[in-house]
Amino acid sequence: MYADLLAWFQQNRRLLPWRQERHAYGVWISEVMLQQTQVDTVIPFYHRWMERFPDVASLAAATEEEVLKYWSGLGYYRRARLLHQGARYIVDECTASFPTSAEQWLKVPGVGPYTAAAVASITLDERVAVVDGNVKRVAARLLGIKLALNDRALHTKAESWSQQLLSDTSHNDFRAGDWNEALMELGATVCRPRLPLCETCPLQDFCKARQSGADPNEFPLAAKRKKFIAIELDYVWSADDKRCVLIQRDQGWNIGLYEAPTREQWTGEIGEKIGSLKHTITHHKITAHFYQAVGDSQLPQTDPTSVPLSGLMRKWLKHVDTL
Ligand code: SF4
Repeated sequence: MYADLLAWFQQNRRLLPWRQERHAYGVWISEVMLQQTQVDTVIPFYHRWMERFPDVASLAAATEEEVLKYWSGLGYYRRARLLHQGARYIVDECTASFPTSAEQWLKVPGVGPYTAAAVASITLDERVAVVDGNVKRVAARLLGIKLALNDRALHTKAESWSQQLLSDTSHNDFRAGDWNEALMELGATVCRPRLPLCETCPLQDFCKARQSGADPNEFPLAAKRKKFIAIELDYVWSADDKRCVLIQRDQGWNIGLYEAPTREQWTGEIGEKIGSLKHTITHHKITAHFYQAVGDSQLPQTDPTSVPLSGLMRKWLKHVDTL
């Protein structure tokens, strides 16, 4: 199985910017960006980030506001704040040297078991298993495990299966990083959530789901749907051609990001509703209503391209053609 998967990976791996050089900094940044975000979305953000913050020292020296600005549009802003704290930790506590094991990576703020294993296996070839949603799906099908994708027991089984293969010392040439990346790549491009491409799969001879004649889509079981909370928010819109009134959020979600003032924050007169949009943040489904400000604003106007914006505000600015 090991040789089949690695041979397939050598021929089919996507040429992604963070795969050009296996440097800890680039792999770390890409792994954090890729959490909850599609590869195609991440690529332009990664390039922009690397131009501005080409190394850990430049990231550590930046202000949080600038870091958030370069993250703006990727969502889940806590990841950006923790990356920033992580960079400062590496510069201050490790004299700018990157950790040399997954265990050491776990001490970096914001780095959990997934990121630690990914960076250590890819850049140090440490034999430690990486488990994400793709790996869990591939393992469930290969091993014929009927558990839900978000069931902790599936995570444990997938991890121990992959770790066992990684720990097999009979493979002297075992490349741990390639194995982990190959499993994730197989899940992303062949053993897809729907319509897996079993005919072209390098592991079809080992796959219990396929051999049993069952529909691979039955593995893993569907995860229970999250319950969403519906929220309605009113914003006040005051803008000229290229500038608008924006306020930095200091509480709730999106702390540090800029949005139009809410009805409660606006002290002037408010006119008619000019539009609404829907936006989802984690398990909140937001309906945002925008009202036109009447008269001159007492609050200063800002160039929206100069500050970090919330996802909701980026959506609105695109809608009114100000971004
Ligand atoms: Fe997935 Fe099909 Fe390959 Fe099995 S044979 S691992 S279901 S793509």
